[in-house]
Amino acid sequence: MLRHDEMFSPADLASRPCSLWRYREPLAISGDPVTLGEGFTPLVDGELAERRVSLKLDFLCPSGSYKDRGGAVMLSKLKEWGVSEILEDSSGNAGASIASYAALAGIRARIFIPSSTSAGKAAQIEMYGAHLEKIPGSREDAARAAWEAAGRIFYASHNWSPYFLAGMKTAAYEIAEQRNWQPPDWVITPAGGGGLLLGLYLGFADLLRAGITHSMPRLAAVQSEGCDPIYHAWAAGLDDIPARAKRPTAAEGISVAQPVRGKDILQAIRGSNGVVRVVSDDTVWETLESLGRLGVYVEPTSAAAPGALSRLVRDGVIAPHEDVVIFLTGSGLKATDKIVEHAAVRHAVLA
Ligand SMILES: *Cc1c(COP(=O)(O)O)cnc(C)c1O
Repeated sequence: MLRHDEMFSPADLASRPCSLWRYREPLAISGDPVTLGEGFTPLVDGELAERRVSLKLDFLCPSGSYKDRGGAVMLSKLKEWGVSEILEDSSGNAGASIASYAALAGIRARIFIPSSTSAGKAAQIEMYGAHLEKIPGSREDAARAAWEAAGRIFYASHNWSPYFLAGMKTAAYEIAEQRNWQPPDWVITPAGGGGLLLGLYLGFADLLRAGITHSMPRLAAVQSEGCDPIYHAWAAGLDDIPARAKRPTAAEGISVAQPVRGKDILQAIRGSNGVVRVVSDDTVWETLESLGRLGVYVEPTSAAAPGALSRLVRDGVIAPHEDVVIFLTGSGLKATDKIVEHAAVRHAVLA
């Protein structure tokens, strides 16, 4: 994790760019940033599960997912270091984001993805000019293939890079600023590798430490029933996260059998007095439709977090008066192939 104590002051922000680069001090980038104006995404009111919530539309970042927060910061640092070629493995969105900012920075990128990744994400990676390697098998097989190639090329992994994680913290700064520095009671977020969850926790902790805010939101991390190592470790009271067998799931972006920052993730959940929940693929698809009826089109993975809301409310974990922000991570346009496939199967069943 990045040890870097500089913090911005809210009074300085008025004259700064409307992007995550307004929160520049904690990002530890000295040169010109590699940027497409990422961040500063809308926080809007909506009604879900018969409750008012705020939706953070972070899928509106330039490459269509919140991973641009990490991609922009990490590629800015790699450019500063003069790196000319990088390697990354991803379930798709991190690869697309990194390919995009690598193109902008003039850095060659090789991206390893599982061959099952949504066609939209693969097409996007190639359009940015990256060299795409589709690896048969699981997300873990793609990581292993990248790891083997990493002896020769700079391994710019979004799961390991402290700069990628520093970029994630801007999600917390931004939610706080958009609410006039009053953090919500809860932030519900999907969790796979756990970078977003960890970034939110560290970002809100920075604000508290600097005296900019006075509370830590409780974090609700949501996983898929098909792949639930964080849930399992949290529920069992462990202090690290063992690998766990997984099944195919509609939530491909959070299908990570063993997050690399296990201890930190569990500490973040417990440190925020948070919870972990799992949702089924049926809930994911139903929630995708509910979001659509609010005018919001996201990819199936992104429907996991809002999918957990009704249970959290019904079980009394989230109280009626509490403020809830739901983080929406990836655009529906990324996963059109999977959404069409699901609609076709459903129509066949109904017919
Ligand atoms: C990467 C990703 C996630 C999970 O984020 P982690 O930081 O790996 O926990 C959630 N949703 C989408 C769409 C993603 O691409």
